Amino acid sequence: MSRRRRVYEGKAKVLYEGPEPGTLIQHFKDDMTAFDAQKRAVVEGKGVLNNRISEYVFARLGDIGVPTHFIRSLNMREQLIREVEIIPVEVVVRNVAAGSLATRLGIEEGTLLPRSIIEFYYKSDALHDPMVSEEHITAFGWATPQEIDDMMALGLRINDFLTGLFIGVGIRLVDFKVEFGRLYEGEMVRVVLADEISPDSCRLWDVRTSEKLDKDRFRRDMGGLIEAYQEVARRLGILFENDTKGRSGPTLVK
Ligand code: UDP
Repeated sequence: MSRRRRVYEGKAKVLYEGPEPGTLIQHFKDDMTAFDAQKRAVVEGKGVLNNRISEYVFARLGDIGVPTHFIRSLNMREQLIREVEIIPVEVVVRNVAAGSLATRLGIEEGTLLPRSIIEFYYKSDALHDPMVSEEHITAFGWATPQEIDDMMALGLRINDFLTGLFIGVGIRLVDFKVEFGRLYEGEMVRVVLADEISPDSCRLWDVRTSEKLDKDRFRRDMGGLIEAYQEVARRLGILFENDTKGRSGPTLVK
């Protein structure tokens, strides 16, 4: 385990060389950061839950034909993924006003948006991930017009599918961030979903109570973070058996 080569270490994950060329191992850490990593903590068990939730979501998206980097689960904290070239653009999809959109445009948090909104942010820690337009992305060569089209189409498809998946278990998908990568297959290059989808990268509110079941609990010092992430996993029916009550499928909440 300790011998394998570390390819990249980010704030919440580590990538190791995979067993075959073109593969990597994605390892989920317990580290938590917010506000450009000015706020930090280690939350025991968070990596296990995010790995579990993200692999489940990626597998379900794969089932409906969304191309992803996910190959298979390896253990509680790790998954085998395809090596991709990450497109340096974060794609945010929003259904309900919250976070930076609520602050920037003065829209009350919780306001249902008239339609889903897509935003792009340039991935740069030094520049604090500034919001950019399609014009910036193509002018500076971060992605081609075709890749932007692919990211938008996939982003909306992911949004529709996940909105339904979560609403079925009593959770509102307020917004989320995704990243895409270029998968090189011989002569072909395809845009595929990469990184993770977890309560670290989504806003998830209980439909009935509006209780936050996501990273905002950390950003806003609300406590109960692990319990909230566990609740998301429990409702999706994917808590490990030794994590209390294991279930075999999503719990329908009417
Ligand atoms: N998000 C993320 N990583 C980032 C920025 C945002 O995962 O670097 C997610 C965030 O959790 C939320 C959505 O993207 O689900 C929209 O975030 P927003 O722009 O409101 O920014 P924030 O309030 O997180 O600063």
